[in-house]
Amino acid sequence: MNKNSFNFLDRIDSLNKNQTQLFDLIVIGGGITGAGILLDASSRGLNTLLLEKKDFASGTSGRSTKLIHGGLRYLKEFEFSLVRKVGKERAIVFNNAPHLIVPQKLLLPIYKNGTFKKWQLSIALKLYDWLAGVKKNERKKIFNFNKTILKEPTLNKEGLVGAGFYSEYRTDDARLTLEIIKTAINFNAEAYNYLEVRTIKKSNNIFHVKAYDTVNNISFEFKSKQLVNASGPWTDDIRKKNNSISKEKICLSKGVHIVLKHENLPIKNPVYFDTLDKRMCFAIPRNNCTYVGTTDTLYEKSEKKEPTPNIKDITYILDSVNSCFDVPKLKLNNVISSWTGLRPLILEEGKKTSEISRKDELIIAQNKMISIAGGKLTGYRLMAKKVVDLIVNNLDRSEKCYTSEIKISGSKNINQENVNEVKIRLREKLAEIEIHSNELDYLFHNYGSQLTKIITLLKTNRYNTIVEAEAHFCIMEENLYYPLDFFLRRTSKLYYSPEKIEEEIILVTPIFSKLLNLNSDEIKLLINQLLAYKKRLTNFNDD
Ligand SMILES: Cc1cc2nc3c(=O)[nH]c(=O)nc-3n(C[C@H](O)[C@H](O)[C@H](O)COP(=O)(O)OP(=O)(O)OC[C@H]3O[C@@H](n4cnc5c(N)ncnc54)[C@H](O)[C@@H]3O)c2cc1C
Repeated sequence: MNKNSFNFLDRIDSLNKNQTQLFDLIVIGGGITGAGILLDASSRGLNTLLLEKKDFASGTSGRSTKLIHGGLRYLKEFEFSLVRKVGKERAIVFNNAPHLIVPQKLLLPIYKNGTFKKWQLSIALKLYDWLAGVKKNERKKIFNFNKTILKEPTLNKEGLVGAGFYSEYRTDDARLTLEIIKTAINFNAEAYNYLEVRTIKKSNNIFHVKAYDTVNNISFEFKSKQLVNASGPWTDDIRKKNNSISKEKICLSKGVHIVLKHENLPIKNPVYFDTLDKRMCFAIPRNNCTYVGTTDTLYEKSEKKEPTPNIKDITYILDSVNSCFDVPKLKLNNVISSWTGLRPLILEEGKKTSEISRKDELIIAQNKMISIAGGKLTGYRLMAKKVVDLIVNNLDRSEKCYTSEIKISGSKNINQENVNEVKIRLREKLAEIEIHSNELDYLFHNYGSQLTKIITLLKTNRYNTIVEAEAHFCIMEENLYYPLDFFLRRTSKLYYSPEKIEEEIILVTPIFSKLLNLNSDEIKLLINQLLAYKKRLTNFNDD
C-alpha cells in the first residue's frame, strides 16, 4: 500500500498530473456510495479517481439518522431480504471500524393504540434478530411497564404497556464516509472535494469528464475507461449531463433532525417512538445532546438547492416528542441545531415517499455509464461490491472483492473487544500532557487510533488546546480547506456544541491561515460563511 497525500498543499500539481492519466474508473460523488466504490475498486487494484463537487459527505451522507441498522420498520413493508442483507452487514461494518461504530440498545415503547402491540413487537424483534444473525446474548428483550419505566423514566406513562429492547449501532455518517475515502487513498486512489463535474463525453470508448475546481476556479479534464454516477439526490442531473436520460428515476424525500440539550430530553437510551401521525422517530443521546428525527416528506427538485427545515417540520418533531416524553414542554427555542437530508429514492408511481422501498438500483446508460442510487448508509459495502463486480467484468479483469476484511482508517490496533482498554491508554496519554479531557469519548469515536497523532501535534506544535491540534490534523490529513467543514463534518461541533463555535473559531483560524496560506480577507470571508451557516441551523422559515 502506498499513501498519497490528502491535503490542499499540492492540489494543483496533483490535479495536473491526473489530467495526463487514463483512469480505470472515475466515480462522481463523495458520499458513502461513492466512497465505498472508491475503496472497493482501488483495493482490487483499479486506478480510480473520485470527484466531489462540495465537501465529502456534504450531501445525504452527512445528514442521516447516523444509525447502522437493519431498518426494523421495513419488516412492516415485508422487505425481508433488505432487512436480512443490511442487518448482517452491521456486524461487518462494526468489525472494520470499531472506533466509529458504537453498539447501542434501542428502547421501543409500546403504547395502547400504538404502532405495535406487545405480541407483534415480540415476533417482529425476534424475526429482526434472526434475519440479522444477532448473537444470542445480544438478542431482544421485552419489558413490562415497571421495567420500562426503570430503563427510561422520561417516558410518558399514560397508555404505556411495556417496551422492546434490541440491538443497533450508532455512527458518525460523515466521518465514516471520510475514513473510507482515506482508506482508499492508502490503496493509491485519488479523491478530490470541491471539484464539480460539469460535462461528460465519450469518444473511442473513453469517458472525458470535465470538472471545475471551485476553490481555485480552474477547469480540469480527466479520462477513464469506466464511469460511475454515485451522486445521490443529483443522480438524474448527472444522467442529463451524460445525455442518457429518457425519464427521471429519482424522487427526493426530505428528512429533518433537531438537536436538543440532553438536559431538556434526558433519555438514558436511544428511543424509537411513535409520532402523532403513526410514523416512527428516533431520539438519540449523543455527547451532551439528544437529537431527534426524522420527517419524511416529498421534496420538489425545483426547491432551493440546500434543503432547510421549516417551522412545520420542527413543530411536527417537537409535538411528537412532547407527546411521548414526560418532560417540561419543549418549544422552538429549545432547538440548538438541526440538519436536513434528502433521501434519493427510486421513483415508484402513486406511492408516498414513506412507502417507497429503500432498495438500491443500478441504471446503465447506453454509453455504459453506471448510475447507482437508493439504498442505505448501512449497505454501502454491498452496493459497492455490486458496482465494482460489474466494472471488473467490463474491464475483462477478475479481481475479487475483499472489503469485508479491510480495516477502515483510524481502527489500527482497535477491535470490538479492546475498545475500553484503548480508551484508558489514550486517557493516560492525554493526562501525561496535562490535558484531562472530558471529551475522550468524542475524540476516540471521531479519530480512533489517529488520536495519538493529534496528541503528538499538541506536544510538538505547542498548541494549548485540542481543537487546534484537531484542525492541524484535519487540514494536513483530511483534505480540509474551509473552517465550516471542520466544524460541520470533521468534528460535528456545529451540531452538538454550537455554543463553543465563536470561541473555537478564534483558536483555529490562525492554523488555517498558516497551513493553507490564506490572507486576512480570505479568513474573514470564511468566518462569515461559517457564522451564516450556523445561524441557518436554528432559523426556521414559514414556507
Ligand atoms: C434523513 C435521513 C436519515 C437517514 N438515516 C439513515 C440511517 O440512519 N442509516 C442508514 O443506513 N441510512 C440512512 N439514510 C439513508 C442514507 O443516508 C443514504 O442512503 C446515503 O447517505 C446516500 O448516500 P449517497 O452517497 O448515495 O448520496 P450523497 O451522500 O448525497 O452523495 C452524493 C454526492 O454527490 C455529489 N455530487 C452531486 N453532483 C455532483 C457533481 N456534478 N460533481 C461532483 N459531485 C457531485 C454531492 O455533492 C454529494 O456529496 C438516511 C437518509 C436520510 C435523508
